Amino acid sequence: MEDGRKAAGRALSMKVLTEETLKKNVELSKYTTFGIGGPAQFMVEPRTMEELREALDFAESEGLKVLPLGGGSDILLPDSGFRGLVIRFSRLSYVEVRGRRVVCEAGVYLQRLLNLAAKEGLSGLEPLAGIPGQLGGAIAKNAGSYGREIVELVRSVTILTWDGEIVDTDTRELSIVYRGSRIPDLGLVVRVTLELAEGDPEKITAETEKFLERRKKEQPYGIRSAGCVFKNPENAEPAGYLLDKAGLKGFRIGDAAYSDIHANFIINEGNASYGDIIRLIEIGKERVKDEFGVSLEEEIVVVQDD
Ligand SMILES: Cc1cc2nc3c(=O)[nH]c(=O)nc-3n(C[C@H](O)[C@H](O)[C@H](O)COP(=O)(O)OP(=O)(O)OC[C@H]3O[C@@H](n4cnc5c(N)ncnc54)[C@H](O)[C@@H]3O)c2cc1C
Repeated sequence: MEDGRKAAGRALSMKVLTEETLKKNVELSKYTTFGIGGPAQFMVEPRTMEELREALDFAESEGLKVLPLGGGSDILLPDSGFRGLVIRFSRLSYVEVRGRRVVCEAGVYLQRLLNLAAKEGLSGLEPLAGIPGQLGGAIAKNAGSYGREIVELVRSVTILTWDGEIVDTDTRELSIVYRGSRIPDLGLVVRVTLELAEGDPEKITAETEKFLERRKKEQPYGIRSAGCVFKNPENAEPAGYLLDKAGLKGFRIGDAAYSDIHANFIINEGNASYGDIIRLIEIGKERVKDEFGVSLEEEIVVVQDD
């Protein structure tokens, strides 16, 4: 029975994964906020859970590595690209409001959710205004800002495991920590239920605007980057402060530079390469280690160049 179902799934996948849904040699730079990343050997943008399952099946049968990609706003991809299957979530973006709960597919952009929540008079997401990624990526990385982490608003998370099982989890099972979780080991985030508080739409909109304005003042906004490059270290000053004091603001290699506005942002001012960013990361780590004895750790996901 088990084998029969699997075999049926395979046959179906070969029928459904046509050239329209399963693409080859897709340039990834246009799907990352850094604007960096070479071609994906294969890329699929599933529209249904069935297509998503079939994509995993395809990867398994072809022996391909899988890279989930949300808004590409927290990731550095090699110029040589990715050998394997990139699964892009943006077409899985259905959202439904059920009272104070919002049930979302993983590919919904956070900013769309913020707008919807404000309209529906649901409060909680406001401090996350301006974070450019999708909900799945935000859960995997436990995105947060101005004292709010997304995990605080999550009621449940549905995972499609690497073995093809659908599992409903709560956040404890996902070992969600500051800017991380064990989701990469488990599988793909497919659905998330948020629980928000009732509030006044006008007040929520005003709060959202306030946080967005603050972000625009404190960070390089609208310039290509992947947000904060390093996590804030424990028992030390924030990474941006340490990098600033170590003289990195404005330090550049080619078209890549530590931002003048916020030293924990590396920006791409033109045609920065993967190698330029990697070198800047190494130099930032070395200088902060030498000056303050603090080891910085990447917050962004750096995909190795193989
Ligand atoms: C200008 C700017 C400002 C930012 N400000 C902040 C901030 O204030 N706070 C903050 O926390 N972050 C910030 N970020 C970083 C980033 O926006 C967040 O981490 C965001 O939540 C990442 O979501 P994404 O969809 O872009 O993830 P991606 O970059 O696409 O992926 C990040 C990781 O999650 C995995 N992933 C993505 N989708 C799924 C899925 N459905 N299932 C399983 N794994 C998945 C990827 O494989 C990867 O490992 C900022 C980025 C930029 C460019």
